[in-house]
Amino acid sequence: HGKFFVGGNWKCNGSTDMIKQLVGELNSADVPKDENVEIIVAPTFVHLEQVKHSIQAPYQIAAQNCWHEPNGAYTGEVGPEMLKDLDVHWVILGHSERRHVIGESDGHIGDKIKQALSTGLKVIACIGETEAQRDASEAFSVVDRQMAAISKVVESSQWDQVVIAYEPVWAIGTGKVATPEIAQEIHHHVREWVEGEVSKDVAKGLRIVYGGSVSDKNAGELAERPDIDGFLVGGASLKAGPFAAICNSHR
Ligand code: 13P
Repeated sequence: HGKFFVGGNWKCNGSTDMIKQLVGELNSADVPKDENVEIIVAPTFVHLEQVKHSIQAPYQIAAQNCWHEPNGAYTGEVGPEMLKDLDVHWVILGHSERRHVIGESDGHIGDKIKQALSTGLKVIACIGETEAQRDASEAFSVVDRQMAAISKVVESSQWDQVVIAYEPVWAIGTGKVATPEIAQEIHHHVREWVEGEVSKDVAKGLRIVYGGSVSDKNAGELAERPDIDGFLVGGASLKAGPFAAICNSHR
């Protein structure tokens, strides 16, 4: 399924000093520098420039969101062209905090994904059910609905620019990591959905990464599962040591 992928989502955290220190530690951390692993960090918009100028290979940079139009009269928003202009090649879209705290809909997220991809950005598209939805046995139908909204806007030639992040809402920031069995079950289901609705080739090449309370302690057993192709890490990505250990977890 392509290169092992680890993303560090810094969320709404950081200051100039804190990031200077974190980037310094990441630059000297023992992370894989081979062709088989891709590592992305996602600072806030205001810290993108600082991180871009200070972080070294193999790290790449992602934004945590962008708008669904290239630019215009949208006070407070950031267009995908602006990210591209800054040499930022990735964007996270549809994160559960955007869906559930800010209220973004499947349709709006689809519009954003479409615009980001047509601008030439690569997209980390997030899906995942809430605890109530899981309790009501709706986990499969929720991720199917979210995948349908995503696949509606991704052209067949663009799937290699997309990483799907399965982040069950009940596991995010709670310390309640999904068991490897639960995560594998959904990842496998999503891959089968893509096989049926898109194509066998796309399903085979697609990276489906897991997010939600990933740590240096649990990453290894999750990474062993056949349909888990990496991670999207929140809290543990703010510490260089644990984050580097997660980046090494596929070995
Ligand atoms: P935590 O790793 O802090 O649970 O956050 C996961 C997440 O939302 C990554 O995008």
